[in-house]
Amino acid sequence: MVSGMETLSETTPQQVAGRFGAYGGRYVPETLMAALEELEHAYAEAQKNPAFHARLDDLLHNYAGRPTPLYHAARLTEHLGGAKIYLKREDLLHTGAHKINNCIGQGLLAQRMGKQRIIAETGAGQHGVATATVCALLGMECVVYMGEEDMQRQELNVLRMRLLGAEVRGVSSGSKTLKDAINEAMRDWVTNVRTTHYLLGSVLGAHPYPMMVRDFHRVISKEAKRQILEKENRLPSAIIACVGGGSNAIGAFYEFIPEKDVRLIGVEAGGNGTTLGMHAARFRGGSPGVLQGTYSYVLQDDDGQVALTHSVSAGLDYASIGPEHAALHDSGRAEYTLATDEQALEATVTLARTEGILPALESAHAVAECIRLAPTLGQHEILVVNLSGRGDKDMGILARELKLKGAR
Ligand SMILES: *Cc1c(COP(=O)(O)O)cnc(C)c1O
Repeated sequence: MVSGMETLSETTPQQVAGRFGAYGGRYVPETLMAALEELEHAYAEAQKNPAFHARLDDLLHNYAGRPTPLYHAARLTEHLGGAKIYLKREDLLHTGAHKINNCIGQGLLAQRMGKQRIIAETGAGQHGVATATVCALLGMECVVYMGEEDMQRQELNVLRMRLLGAEVRGVSSGSKTLKDAINEAMRDWVTNVRTTHYLLGSVLGAHPYPMMVRDFHRVISKEAKRQILEKENRLPSAIIACVGGGSNAIGAFYEFIPEKDVRLIGVEAGGNGTTLGMHAARFRGGSPGVLQGTYSYVLQDDDGQVALTHSVSAGLDYASIGPEHAALHDSGRAEYTLATDEQALEATVTLARTEGILPALESAHAVAECIRLAPTLGQHEILVVNLSGRGDKDMGILARELKLKGAR
């Protein structure tokens, strides 16, 4: 299945780089092939360059606030009465979520490539804000594409981006949401590819993005592994993370993949129903297909049309999932489960009241799985939950939803 600007190139799975098992690859118009190859080479070269790493590490530490704490959630642990729970506090990073790790990395890479103009697309606005932040930091021009429907729903983030100096371009085609904004960003990139870097926000899109974005988030599991060994002198029983495109999850999983005794649990958005259109659980109802440059699981109808999705959390509300997760799913190395809107909202309340931490609604899906799993495990077991972001951005939705349900 092919959507929007993406056309299947002549390449076959065996011939293209950037595969994760059968998944991934590079399904883009010929006009973008040169740009992707340029990016791949620039990234490979930066990876080998100590000065690039020094600058990245410096900004992650002094600007973004790394390393983030691995916090023992004692009251939540006691409340659930099972496994010992640790939270990896990505919510404490500058701009309030893990997204800044990747934006700093790609911003520095664009600078190395001599590209002074950054484009991005955003749904709820979180990636747009992180991108606008890094462009201000590095003194680069920033254009963010956003569906007009999303601009109305997320006005505060539009204002944030503008205050940071970014130009927000409303997209009025199609459903006026994320996928239309992605198509516009692709069009811009094709036209301005010589001067412009497309700063993609998750482990999605054509090679090298899924690999590169994963590498920029690997720092999460590097730190978590070191921290849990320092605190407990052993590895956890499981790592739990929510999965939208899959960047915070793959970052939290990656260094544990070779540790076969550590379960890797990804939590998708179960939305408010099991039929197509009511959720964003790609592994419960999706099937392999191509969307926006990569081959992975896609929620689609019998004709291969991309399905509508729903989640209370905008960051998990996407019809496809990063290709590396598709491979981890098929190999059985990682497990994927889901939390419904209601479970995520309940988990938000539980974490707020036991620990004084308001999780992003995305992260609350991981907390919900922890709440389900912890009581089934013994007290000697350890769970690490990746708390991908903070909940301030969701206060409007929380106020509405929690009042509707009468939870006080
Ligand atoms: C964007 C976002 C996500 C979803 O993106 P992934 O690429 O799946 O990590 C999850 N949590 C928060 C807080 C986000 O802002």
